[in-house]
Amino acid sequence: MQFWQVLQDSPMVAWVLFAVLGLCVGSFLNVVIYRMPQMMIQEWRQASVDILKEQEDITEAQIKPIADSIAQDIPMTLSRPASRCPQCQHKIRWYENIPVVSWVLLKGRCSGCAEPISFRYPLVELITALLTVVVIYQFGVTVQGLSALVLVWTLIALTGIDFDTQLLPDRLTFPLAGLGLAVNSQSWFVSPSQSIWGLLLGFLVLWVVVQLFYLLTKKQGMGQGDFKLLAVLGAWMGPMMLPFIILFSSLLGAVVGVFLMRKHGESRPFAFGPYIAIAGMVALLYGQRIMDWYLGYAQL
Ligand SMILES: [Zn+2]
Repeated sequence: MQFWQVLQDSPMVAWVLFAVLGLCVGSFLNVVIYRMPQMMIQEWRQASVDILKEQEDITEAQIKPIADSIAQDIPMTLSRPASRCPQCQHKIRWYENIPVVSWVLLKGRCSGCAEPISFRYPLVELITALLTVVVIYQFGVTVQGLSALVLVWTLIALTGIDFDTQLLPDRLTFPLAGLGLAVNSQSWFVSPSQSIWGLLLGFLVLWVVVQLFYLLTKKQGMGQGDFKLLAVLGAWMGPMMLPFIILFSSLLGAVVGVFLMRKHGESRPFAFGPYIAIAGMVALLYGQRIMDWYLGYAQL
């Protein structure tokens, strides 16, 4: 237990170690953000063929060309096949894969074909490292701190995936909701009953808004994933933090939305998940302080 003691006694050592850990986790999150949607699409393609095969009005001959095409998919997992440059198929070696450092040494270009490597990869690594250190600064090297890291890391992955694909995979949100209930069964962040009510109300509040919006406009305003993500945050932080998260994410979404519309001229498919996730991280780290300040200010 001596290593643990060192981390708790000397914050500087802990911050440096957790910054390095954050860089490595960020590197893994890049893989998750890039590959998980592709893995899901492969599974859906296969599942759709399996479903078509069971339909009586569709013949084997009609399915065959599609099934043959899907059989060509190279099965993808988080670890296989090895990472390659999408441009020239140059296999990325271990020393070209060191978080941030490799990107800087390669001057942001593939060593095979000199095609630029997106700045997003080191950016995700740096943001993950920064947030990792902020979580440890806020919560210390404690069970709360370590479980908050799992929440924040998964929220970063969800932000990236939703930004790219407008998907918030159940395979990330469901376990994260379960983990929220589990950690709060020990009252690590809120009481067990607050956690349960946070989960239920987090889901319901957006569900009701979207149903009303649909009744009034006949348009789907938001994806199901958004309700599930808010339910996750409710399970971790309780129902009292939901108004703050909804308000903050709406403001952030509106500001960024106006900015993007000015820049691109038209409205692109709009992912709301990233704003909920960012609001969730702010609520986790500073929500209580902001609420105390606001309630004091409003003399409530
Ligand atoms: Zn290349």
